Amino acid sequence: MTELKSLTRQELSELLRELGQPAFRAKQVFRWLHRAVEDFDEMSDLPKSLREALRERCVLTVPTVMRRQVSAEDGTIKYLWGLRDGSCVESVLMRYKHGNTLCVSCEVGCAMGCAFCASTLGGLVRRLSAGEILDQVLFAQKDSGLRVSNIVMMGMGEPLDNFENVLRFLRLVNDPDGLNIGMRHISLSTCGLLAGIDALAELDLQLTLSVSLHAPDDETRSRLMPVNRATGVEPLMEHCRAYFARTGRRISYEYAMVDGVNDSDEMADKLVRLLRGQSAHVNLIPLNHVDESPLKPSRRVRQFQQRLERQGVTCTVRRRLGSDIDASCGQLRRRVLRQAKKGEKA
Ligand code: SAH
Repeated sequence: MTELKSLTRQELSELLRELGQPAFRAKQVFRWLHRAVEDFDEMSDLPKSLREALRERCVLTVPTVMRRQVSAEDGTIKYLWGLRDGSCVESVLMRYKHGNTLCVSCEVGCAMGCAFCASTLGGLVRRLSAGEILDQVLFAQKDSGLRVSNIVMMGMGEPLDNFENVLRFLRLVNDPDGLNIGMRHISLSTCGLLAGIDALAELDLQLTLSVSLHAPDDETRSRLMPVNRATGVEPLMEHCRAYFARTGRRISYEYAMVDGVNDSDEMADKLVRLLRGQSAHVNLIPLNHVDESPLKPSRRVRQFQQRLERQGVTCTVRRRLGSDIDASCGQLRRRVLRQAKKGEKA
């Protein structure tokens, strides 16, 4: 069975041609899909015979809302979506003045093993299809009644570990007949897979690449992010510089502030040296504490920020949204899985 929402425009046209349909049908079907229809019968301007033919050959994915948590503080909405195989992923809808931003997941679980991250605790379960990533946007809009204008790929999973499906998703969500979200309104965050950064550079998209750096030297970075043992900080920087040279897009470096691990003045100075000569932006993230992890949030975020700024590094501190609703990635899924195991109702 073909998963309909994962098809590119081209593939959808071919499928409909095979079904003996005129060319204009592809656009019609594409538009329905991107309006989050839940059944083929909702595609009311298609002939009944075509709806039946599609039903026989294709799957129309419809995630269920397993949990919805709304922050009393700032209106942030956290979703836990149930997928067709029984697994679940999270998305977070954040309401900013410049528009609503959805943080989407691209994998169930994650293989990268970062020490501070809840998403990776059970390892990688599976990668999401392009349609399943898109569904998070479609159904968050449908459920909330809000329009999503920005997307950040900062939920569960590693986008560059699911490159092909993520790219398909980007093309789909960017389509003028779909949600029409411009690349400049999309950020993609990676733990720094070098081949993926190179492949993305080649495509020269106008999205914002965020690189989760979290430490300026190999010893500290490998401790926090096992993936660094294979990449190394210096090679990562080389690939990032090449990315900027190719795309002209400034990279945003994420830096989660961990008490006593990466938050000293010495670390700040090392970070300044590492980024010297690069057109870079540093985004300091107050660590979200994860129960299973001994790592604690830093109390030196402001000092660290000032030290970077004094030395000419542009730097922001991420605002915490939805901290009352487990909004950092992977936490809600963990809790629900744990409770399900114990047979409790969450
Ligand atoms: N795999 C991608 C995207 C996932 S998470 C990546 O590694 O970038 C998005 C960001 O949140 C990453 O920078 C990640 O390191 C960070 N993050 C994960 N868990 C966190 C936590 N408990 N506190 C603060 N930041 C966290």
